[in-house]
Amino acid sequence: MLLPPTLLDRVLGDKTAKSFAKNLGLVTVSDLLQHYPRRYSNRGELTPIANLPIGESLSIVAEVVDARERRTKGRVSSILEVRITDGSGFLSLTFFNQAWRQKDLRPGVRGLFAGKIGEYQGKLQLAHPDYELFPEELSQFDAKAWADQPIPIYPASANVTTWMIQKALGIVLDTLESIPDEVPEGLQKEHKLLSVNQALEKIHRPTTKAEINAAKKTLVYREAFLLQSTLIQRRIDNEQAPATARLSKASGFLTRFDASLPFKLTAGQKEVGREITADLAKTYPMNRLLQGEVGSGKTLVALRGMLTIADSDGQSVLLAPTEVLASQHFRSIQKSLGEDLAKEVGLTLLTGQLPTDERKKAMLQVVSGKARIVIGTHALFSEKVEFYDLGLVVIDEQHRFGVEQREKLRLKGKLSPHVLTMTATPIPRTLAVTVFGDMAVSSLTELPAGRKEIDSHVVRAGDKSLVARVWGRVAEEIAKGHQAFVVCPKIDESEKEQSGASVEKTVSSLRQNSALKGLRIQELHGRMDAEQKAQIMQAFSSKEIDLLVSTTVIEVGVDVPNATVMVILDADNFGISQLHQLRGRVGRGSAKGLCLLLTAAEDGSIALERIEAVAGESDGFKLSEIDLELRREGDVLGASQSGGRSSLRLLRVIQDANLIKKVREEVEQIFARDRGLDSSPTLKAALEQINSAENLAKG
Ligand code: ADP
Ligand code: MG
Repeated sequence: MLLPPTLLDRVLGDKTAKSFAKNLGLVTVSDLLQHYPRRYSNRGELTPIANLPIGESLSIVAEVVDARERRTKGRVSSILEVRITDGSGFLSLTFFNQAWRQKDLRPGVRGLFAGKIGEYQGKLQLAHPDYELFPEELSQFDAKAWADQPIPIYPASANVTTWMIQKALGIVLDTLESIPDEVPEGLQKEHKLLSVNQALEKIHRPTTKAEINAAKKTLVYREAFLLQSTLIQRRIDNEQAPATARLSKASGFLTRFDASLPFKLTAGQKEVGREITADLAKTYPMNRLLQGEVGSGKTLVALRGMLTIADSDGQSVLLAPTEVLASQHFRSIQKSLGEDLAKEVGLTLLTGQLPTDERKKAMLQVVSGKARIVIGTHALFSEKVEFYDLGLVVIDEQHRFGVEQREKLRLKGKLSPHVLTMTATPIPRTLAVTVFGDMAVSSLTELPAGRKEIDSHVVRAGDKSLVARVWGRVAEEIAKGHQAFVVCPKIDESEKEQSGASVEKTVSSLRQNSALKGLRIQELHGRMDAEQKAQIMQAFSSKEIDLLVSTTVIEVGVDVPNATVMVILDADNFGISQLHQLRGRVGRGSAKGLCLLLTAAEDGSIALERIEAVAGESDGFKLSEIDLELRREGDVLGASQSGGRSSLRLLRVIQDANLIKKVREEVEQIFARDRGLDSSPTLKAALEQINSAENLAKG
């Protein structure tokens, strides 16, 4: 929406604006207007006290029961203890040296109380809460309307309370100019939408529930509309860029490669292979996302695409997020191609670790076009590497690359290269259309035959004997000649923000664990330099290390088939897809994998539910759906999954799937009629604003 980009200090004053920016990340009037209420309370309805979550900041409507002043021992200070109730449960408020509040906080008075819920001597309490009491004297008629009027409750912080936000919004809304509408009139009418101004007014200052619903409906529609417009515009722009059509030769590299395969392609691999072949034959660049579990055979599919390009005398590059992964890809592709084919296509590894002269030689091969298949890291690639005729870029692990890097890649070829992005973090189809709507999406849903499932179990921290048994199991696997991973949420104790076990502490405690006596235990984490990390991974691969204790640096793609067991400590610190990714590191060889998820998460918590979901489900696509359902609130399209795309505020991808589909069709029609959006200037301006904001965010 084209909301005013005015800085908040103009409207709220310096001090308030600074505090809004620091505590809530709200900088402009536009940010504030889109800081929507989390929920609504009303004065007549008390908030149930029984289930208030300890440790969370929240606002509740309650009634004062009584207030008592106590003197502390030395009699120098006093504590005012006020009990409030929802009619059944009680909560105490405590104030130090503020006895004067007693005259306001009289029995029977109602108000809105805000603070962090704590527990003291077994009782729920709010220490030094902020509150706003409701006036008691109102006429009978007013009282009812007033009691029913929704009070917006905003996501707030300890320093910026919900009513400070409400007040600030009041100021902004009172002077808000008329906002132009990017949704065409016909669609506004069809969907019975409010105007932008009305919707903002009613979401922030509703007088009835019906108004809230109408405002929400309007705002959700607009989010879907703008998101789909952005995605479809990108897709259309992409289709305008010229690319070279590529076809494989009758008895070329691809044919020879297929004939040499020791196994049959899965049905999915064949299907996706056909999709890619069709894309490569077009005269505008492919922009395809290939999603599938670790081990589902994505690299093989990509390699077949690269061979098609080689058949048309063009070049391909496969980019991996790290040097370790680039080398690993190189070795496995070398093996798949076989000696002759690898030589003929000029398979070349290009990473920062290569000695200078080798690197120069590799670069020369690339510039001259002799290297038709190049494997490298993104970091190196963004430097001065020139291609003779770059036809295809394959990007491994989407979530490690931003959209901006893809743009840079485009500039590498004479014409735009085709782009295939591979991700092992599958996302449900509904979401794929939503976030990757500018890409074509292919999915490999089956694993090649013969792959074994990983045994996964949740181990509750409270069960000491079971925890001890974990290390016994690890020792047994190692005794059989296998290796083990232990994953921790943080590196050392200096990371105060991050909870859970540290690599540092875990290594020293495991070294003292009698079950693991004499084993070679090594640590690995992201603060080590690339060379050191590579050395350690190399040592692990060549079985010089039995047990690797690390952070999530091993998350992506590392392939050590001899590692059969993974222990994840304080697993509640990781997301569902991350746990699934991590677990994919074991059981890659002939022996069955075992994953033990340790957690101190409480019964009935969402954290425990997440971990149990991972333990109980091995299908990454299903897990990603569960993940979405469990993340009821918050930013569904976290930057990591959306590749930095605009975050959604009210739109929920699963819940609103039908709406999204409908809106997508509507937007397609708009662009079909008027590709340049010449007759929709407001929409055009809104999209320009979104694109420039994203470019800014990308730096
Ligand atoms: P991904 O990149 O999706 O993790 P890979 O392409 O690396 O998966 O494949 C994993 C392993 O499975 C490789 O060793 C590969 O050679 C093998 N593989 C791939 N496709 C098949 C298939 N159709 N049948 C049997 N093995 C396969
Ligand atoms: Mg792979």
